[in-house]
Amino acid sequence: MKYVILGNGPAGVSALAAIRKVDPTGEITVVSPETWRYYSKILLTRWIAGKVRFPSLFLVDEGFYERNDVKTVFGAAATRIDPGRRVVELSNRQRLGYDRLLLAMGSSPQVPDVCGIRLPGVHYLRTFDDAERIAQAASSAQRAVVIGGGLVSLKAAEGLLGRGLEVWVVVSSERLLSQITAPEDAAPVLRIFEGTSRLHILPNCDVTEVEGRGRVERAHLSAGQRIECDIVVVGKGVTPNLLCTRGTGIRTGRGVIVDDRMQTSVPGIYAAGDLAEGFDIARGRAAVNALWSSAVWQGRVAGCNMAGRDVTYPGDVGLNSVTFFGGCVATLGKTRPEDGDEVHTLAGRGSDSGDYARLVFRDDHLVGAVLIGRAVQTAGVLRSLIARRSSVARIKGELLRGRMSYAGIVRDVVGLCTPVVAC
Ligand SMILES: Cc1cc2nc3c(=O)[nH]c(=O)nc-3n(C[C@H](O)[C@H](O)[C@H](O)COP(=O)(O)OP(=O)(O)OC[C@H]3O[C@@H](n4cnc5c(N)ncnc54)[C@H](O)[C@@H]3O)c2cc1C
Repeated sequence: MKYVILGNGPAGVSALAAIRKVDPTGEITVVSPETWRYYSKILLTRWIAGKVRFPSLFLVDEGFYERNDVKTVFGAAATRIDPGRRVVELSNRQRLGYDRLLLAMGSSPQVPDVCGIRLPGVHYLRTFDDAERIAQAASSAQRAVVIGGGLVSLKAAEGLLGRGLEVWVVVSSERLLSQITAPEDAAPVLRIFEGTSRLHILPNCDVTEVEGRGRVERAHLSAGQRIECDIVVVGKGVTPNLLCTRGTGIRTGRGVIVDDRMQTSVPGIYAAGDLAEGFDIARGRAAVNALWSSAVWQGRVAGCNMAGRDVTYPGDVGLNSVTFFGGCVATLGKTRPEDGDEVHTLAGRGSDSGDYARLVFRDDHLVGAVLIGRAVQTAGVLRSLIARRSSVARIKGELLRGRMSYAGIVRDVVGLCTPVVAC
């Protein structure tokens, strides 16, 4: 059996490990335009800040691919898939035949429609090469503008602050993390970032132009302000890499549509990770959940099925977390309530404790949470409660009294945590 895996991120590598476990002799080839072995994107901004050493970024050792008898084609991207002939064409003109193909190409940063956005000095953060360019630019820079108030932008801001830069975070929305929080979370979320020296957060504001002679020198804002800067980092969300699915008959929506075995509408072709629409338990429908843990899990399920096992993906609960100089916010499941949802907000004792939890219920089921401060410690337990999809009526009173400690409710959760896939 010939397996081709497009992508060397968590989805691709988890798939290859699962395939090799089930099929010790099949021919596996992994393709990636990047030249690095499997590394952690989650640590990139800590590496930019100088808090993580280069070797610690890697999640596998140099011998990993050889030991697993996996061929690598690094430095080349898939450009076209011919499902009729079962062939993938690569940017280096190589053609790879397959019996089973996995799409695990992740996503790419969105480029905002802003004048001057292609000037040298404007950066995106998706890969290690991006991080290296940012770190290099930061070494001789003093002032940075970060466009966007989402998870990656805030992590990038922390990385740049860690390098000693003064940072302006320009946010279109009226609040930070607007995609994963509700308006009532704005003040407690902002408190995590407020007071950080050299950090300026500018909500309700857009960068209208990036300007400079040959490279970035300043950013113009919709509020009329102008910020002199040496670097701009853009974090305005990502788009799944679907280019090579065009003309293949693979059904797509926002991402690649898959069944519960992670198979696409074309037999023999599977998809996993940031480009796939896996089942989202809290939302009760398929969605692109751009999360590391979902990519690992979906990759494992896809790999098992590609190798002939019958394993289903029951769905996942989105868990985003941002730590910022010791402060932490975590969001789980559905955080923006819809009609019929019940919302309860719990603030910690003392107005300046910083502890905060907002829980979203639907018909006695917990479906979402925003957690700040010490409440973040309960994220794992609450995620399990959401994932189990059964009534929390018996412990709802405890949850609403803020008794969400692991010890307090563990007896109701033990044995019911999200299942682990085993091939
Ligand atoms: C800075 C940063 C911080 C993050 N922090 C967190 C966090 O704290 N928690 C969290 O859950 N998630 C976080 N994420 C998101 C997380 O990294 C992604 O959800 C995860 O990496 C998705 O895995 P994937 O395998 O689907 O895609 P990716 O990890 O993006 O891997 C895609 C692979 O496909 C390759 N590829 C691209 N195009 C092609 C092509 N045409 N042909 C072949 N190969 C191709 C790429 O080179 C790469 O090897 C972060 C992301 C970034 C960028």
